[in-house]
Amino acid sequence: MDLDAMKSSGKRELDWVNTLFITLTPVIAVFGTAWYAWNYGVTWLELANFALMFSLTGMGVTAGYHRYFAHLTYDCSKPLQLFYLVFGAAAIENSVLNWASDHRYHHRYVDKDEDPYDILKGGLYAHMGWIFYKDTRAVHQKYKNVPDLLKNPMIVWQDKYYLPLVLVVSFVLPTLIGLAQGRPMGGLLWGGFLRIVIVHHMTFFVNSIAHLWGTRPYSTDNTARDNWLLGPFTFGEGYHNFHHAFQADYRNGIKWYQFDVTKWWLHAMKWMGLVSRLKKTPDSLILAARLEVEVRSVEEKLVAAGAPERMLPKVRFRLEAGRTRLETAMAQYNHAKLEYRRMKRQWSVDMRRQWRAKMDEYKVEFHQAHERWQDTMKAMNRIPHPSAQGLLTFTAIVDIFKAKLF
Ligand SMILES: [Zn+2]
Ligand SMILES: [Zn+2]
Repeated sequence: MDLDAMKSSGKRELDWVNTLFITLTPVIAVFGTAWYAWNYGVTWLELANFALMFSLTGMGVTAGYHRYFAHLTYDCSKPLQLFYLVFGAAAIENSVLNWASDHRYHHRYVDKDEDPYDILKGGLYAHMGWIFYKDTRAVHQKYKNVPDLLKNPMIVWQDKYYLPLVLVVSFVLPTLIGLAQGRPMGGLLWGGFLRIVIVHHMTFFVNSIAHLWGTRPYSTDNTARDNWLLGPFTFGEGYHNFHHAFQADYRNGIKWYQFDVTKWWLHAMKWMGLVSRLKKTPDSLILAARLEVEVRSVEEKLVAAGAPERMLPKVRFRLEAGRTRLETAMAQYNHAKLEYRRMKRQWSVDMRRQWRAKMDEYKVEFHQAHERWQDTMKAMNRIPHPSAQGLLTFTAIVDIFKAKLF
């Protein structure tokens, strides 16, 4: 059973190889690179070496290990899979089999003892501490949750040759790039050690910071958070609340302004014909999740502020009305968009004009419903903490509701 497989048997043994690697590489990366730069300067090739290795291995982890192998959020061509396997290995975060298995357990048992990087065991533990311990699970038990990956011969090959791959791609390759300028040590430090450490901690941040600080717009059932600041530092994996709510979606940042470079990479790969069928959660489901969280938070706030019992059903009724109006408006608008796209070629110019006008109408209705909803939320967010004046403020809120809602 999965649960039995995940439970560690008694005292946990330290994994010395992992512990030394994770603690010594930052020392070499920081002091080694600083010493080398101080004595021999920095060349453009060293910076390019770092940037190139950083981008390729980082993308190997986020677009490859995470969004493809662990979550299968799109269809991926064989050459691109090979690229992910080779450069993902060079990030030195274990083979795909291991990584994806741990990650699927993380999603399944998030915030529970069986979660490999359970945030409730502490921020530092979730960040890197969990790697210091030996995995006591038998491989056949651990890999029960990755049967699909075990069937892929390329993945099995990567698991078997993981160490030689690490050696060649993570260390020899950047050294050779440095050698082109007669500075192999510079190549090894910039494109090897410094890059490894930065990619490591960027990945680790998703398990620590993205479960500690940020907002929870899509689900409050677990600790995962959206943290916009983390976006640029994690190839776009900072929108972790959305990701935990909709793990089959190829995106993490769904708004155009949310920094999700992995999503943009996948758009480029699709354009080049290397990936297909990027899975997207329907807008209506995303909206429903958001509204559910917002309604729940208003109710919790009212209860915490000691609102009178009889007021709750009234507020609930208003919120439900707003929610229905907004969801209907979105469904109508989406349906019209679909229909318009489907029938565009068959219709006459007049028909098209009529439908365009209808679509615009639905769009306006959706935006109005959305604005109203946001106004309600703003009004509700002005609820103070329980205080002597609390009840007076409630009357004001009810007035706001009466005046302009739905
Ligand atoms: Zn995930
Ligand atoms: Zn997570």
